[in-house]
Amino acid sequence: MKAPVSKVTLDQLPVTAIKGVGASLSAKLAKIGLFSVQDVLLHLPLRYMDRTRITPIGALQPNVNAVIEAEVRACDIVFGKRRSLVCKVQDGTGTITLRFYHFNNAQKQRLVNGTRLRIFGETRRGASGLEMYHPEYDELDTAAPLPLAQSLPPVSPATEGLTQPRLRSLAAQALKLLDQYVLNELLPAAVRHQLNQVSLAEALRYLHQPPTNANIQQLMDGEHPFQQRLVFEELLAHHLSLLLLRRETQADGAQRLTINAALQAQFMARVGFELTRAQRRVVDEIAADLAKPIPMLRLVQGDVGSGKTVVAALAALAAVSSGVQAAIMAPTEILAEQHRLNFGKWLEPLGIRIGWLTGKLKAAERRNQLAAIASGEAQVIVGTHALFQEAVDFARLGLIVIDEQHRFGVHQRLTLSEKGTIGGDIAQSGICRPHQLIMTATPIPRTLAMSAYADLDYSVIDELPPGRTPVTTVVISDNRREEVVERVRLACAQGRQAYWVCTLIEESEALEAQAAEVTAAQLAESLPQLRIGLIHGRLKPADKEEVMAAFKAHELDLLVATTVIEVGVDVPNASLMIIENPERLGLAQLHQLRGRVGRGSAASHCVLLYGSPLSQNGRERLRVMRESSDGFYIAEQDLLLRGPGEVLGTRQTGEMQFRIADLQRDSHLLPAVKDAALLLMSDYPRECEYIVQRWLGQNHRYLQV
Ligand code: ADP
Ligand code: MG
Repeated sequence: MKAPVSKVTLDQLPVTAIKGVGASLSAKLAKIGLFSVQDVLLHLPLRYMDRTRITPIGALQPNVNAVIEAEVRACDIVFGKRRSLVCKVQDGTGTITLRFYHFNNAQKQRLVNGTRLRIFGETRRGASGLEMYHPEYDELDTAAPLPLAQSLPPVSPATEGLTQPRLRSLAAQALKLLDQYVLNELLPAAVRHQLNQVSLAEALRYLHQPPTNANIQQLMDGEHPFQQRLVFEELLAHHLSLLLLRRETQADGAQRLTINAALQAQFMARVGFELTRAQRRVVDEIAADLAKPIPMLRLVQGDVGSGKTVVAALAALAAVSSGVQAAIMAPTEILAEQHRLNFGKWLEPLGIRIGWLTGKLKAAERRNQLAAIASGEAQVIVGTHALFQEAVDFARLGLIVIDEQHRFGVHQRLTLSEKGTIGGDIAQSGICRPHQLIMTATPIPRTLAMSAYADLDYSVIDELPPGRTPVTTVVISDNRREEVVERVRLACAQGRQAYWVCTLIEESEALEAQAAEVTAAQLAESLPQLRIGLIHGRLKPADKEEVMAAFKAHELDLLVATTVIEVGVDVPNASLMIIENPERLGLAQLHQLRGRVGRGSAASHCVLLYGSPLSQNGRERLRVMRESSDGFYIAEQDLLLRGPGEVLGTRQTGEMQFRIADLQRDSHLLPAVKDAALLLMSDYPRECEYIVQRWLGQNHRYLQV
């Protein structure tokens, strides 16, 4: 390999160094986060097309990329929902429709009948047979035939105003600069050799311009070794960013918190039960963290009903014992309200003042609460994410508890810890951060946890409190609905309570609420003897609270609900749950819902009332629910059946925006990624930062802190 002529590195070289890139193009590139030549090189193809072969139209399948050669038969502007140019082309074997939404008159005029085109795009099934939307095409001249492409053209993530040919030519120009400038190899040789990896430059050349003999299937699947080389580095960058963030956070120091033994004894007496062995172990792990002068960053995983709340309350008690405030954040109003009740019941008798803050407070009440938080009068503050808005000023925030973390993004976690530094006059010198305790009932398979929570220590409550009877789950088709209604009647006649859950329809809270209303009305008709309540996301918070309180107080027998009741809601006397159309939900969510029953001593049942016919995958998923109540097993199955985006929640994966990595496809790399990250953190501090910068660039959370 030639030595580069310049010492300038490609990450320092602006895109304008590429031939033909001026102000307007560089502005477009900036929009998609491409600032340097290195960025352009790392803007990797998402797919590849095989342009080395021409396919007869008659042999085309839907949803494939293909090159065809055909003659224009008709070309018209069509005024449908959107004005479009529709062009029919034909070869000896069939006809296909080309559709353009962006076009100009000149383009239309050239597409006259009889014009021969080489067209290339993705087929889809349209109203009139196969269609291609916005295909690329060239006019064919019989006198001078166009050669077929010599490589497999890559398709890169595009943006408005940047066509595929444009992106390809940019990449080609950028590749030329690889010879003249330096592209730093950031992976230590030891890591690369161990993984048998090629150089970054070699991988980039290949992936932007794969040779015709490349294994196209492997490339399309993202499993080519050169792709994996880059995937590895990208996963490493994400992992490192979390580790750096952790180091940064912990460098700031924290107040040591220790629990007052007498207060703890009083508290346990109020609570009225013994901790399980698992709860004790986790409480000890937390206590050990809190006693250190560095901020705790700990994730507690515990299946639904494993008793995380009391563990959080004990941590809050340590904060109060040590003279600082604890903030407890829940993802929904309902859950926050429930925590307020529990914390109030357990802590207020010990003389501890509970603060309360949600987005729905009236102005005067909000002012009072804010004042109590700012003065330190409120010692344990329960609320929703309203707790962490600008206007909230804590006197001495020493501990943050985030419940049901999967509902929040990683970013929110950070804003919170920042909060503690405001008004954190605990330390004489430097910044003091609050300890952070993060709780989740969504068990995350190990591999995913490793990458999503690399910045957190990890505790598991792997035991349920005694005296629970397992929930029996049955799967029933909705044409046996009447039997199920009868079952509800019987259970309630015996003094039990039941939930009837209506699941989400097409992501619309309004439609979901409507469906729940209809269901509640129907059930009221068939079960006139029951007291039926209704709860959904569209109700006012005060109304929601009222309904929940009535159900808890057994003033209602049956609660018709949408999935808003999913998290945390605790009514031990409820022993029957009907879930309508469970096939619409992910397993983790079903598991959460089902966790609402089986909290008391009565044998509990969950009826999965599916809409038939059920797909193969749907059948599989419901089988998992029937056979297992182990959250970890269910999460593993969910991962297999649905993929990591669904398991981690879109929030989380949305933030973990990968350019080429795919957590599910590439999870086998994670153990090696973790090892490499530890090695880099200890021996290659500069490379750590460069790798993170290379892959996360502007999105780099660590840089923002
Ligand atoms: P989750 O982990 O789902 O948040 P909760 O903290 O809501 O669970 O606890 C579920 C129920 O179990 C609550 O009613 C709680 O009071 C009760 N509980 C928690 N720990 C114990 C225990 N060690 N013994 C008996 N009951 C317990
Ligand atoms: Mg809970």
